[in-house]
Amino acid sequence: MNDSSIKTRPTAIILVIGNEILNGKTLDTNSRFFADKLFMRGINVIRRLTIPDTIDIIIEEVRKNSQICDFLFSMGGIGPTPDDLTRQAFADAFNLPLVRNPEAERIMREYCGERINEIRLRMADLPENCELIPNPNSSAPGFIINNCFVLPGVPELLESMYEEIEHKLPSLPRFMKKMKTDFFEGDYADIMEEVQRKFPEVQIGSYPAFSNPDYNNELTFESYEETRVNDAMAEFNMMLKDM
Ligand code: AMP
Ligand code: MG
Repeated sequence: MNDSSIKTRPTAIILVIGNEILNGKTLDTNSRFFADKLFMRGINVIRRLTIPDTIDIIIEEVRKNSQICDFLFSMGGIGPTPDDLTRQAFADAFNLPLVRNPEAERIMREYCGERINEIRLRMADLPENCELIPNPNSSAPGFIINNCFVLPGVPELLESMYEEIEHKLPSLPRFMKKMKTDFFEGDYADIMEEVQRKFPEVQIGSYPAFSNPDYNNELTFESYEETRVNDAMAEFNMMLKDM
């Protein structure tokens, strides 16, 4: 991967919060969903982190990581149970009080009707002056604070809430082409290096396909400019033929 091309692109960090992800009890499909969406928008995900429901760790990681990316997406831990510490952690990370958000409370009261109680209303306790992210499938909103988008862990909710924030994110063209080959990495590593040097703005990746009977490796060529992707691939193929 080439550093100079990465720096010019918007960057994102995905922060997955939950003991159940860390210990393998739940498969993390949320960060995959987000990574895919962000890739399609030309936003570079520079880290995907999984951390426990431990308030000090969440605070530390939010402070550290929000400073080194354009957008941080947090997912998990905004429910009403005592192990849901993400709302408090974001307030603490940015030295803001956690306060009952009147708009969130109104939405939740309207949605829950007679079922509303103080426990459910904990989900309306949010960092002061944050912006709400609507939750079309239940009611408890997510929120935006500085460059951080804070979302729930339940995949159905997370996915519907992505649609609510999409318009706030940049969208840059990105082109990726794939190439399957029967050559092995040990055959073409030098060629790859040379092509990468000539095309620093193209990210070239090589991925062995051990269990695939049809080919040995897949290469990807990816850039903001389609012509550069095509040129890099053509050069690679030419050098491979001359080998
Ligand atoms: P949470 O909002 O963190 O309490 O998560 C609620 C539920 O969403 C959990 O019980 C998990 O089953 C699911 N969940 C949380 N994080 C993820 C994730 N990264 N990928 C898939 N499911 C998740
Ligand atoms: Mg949780």
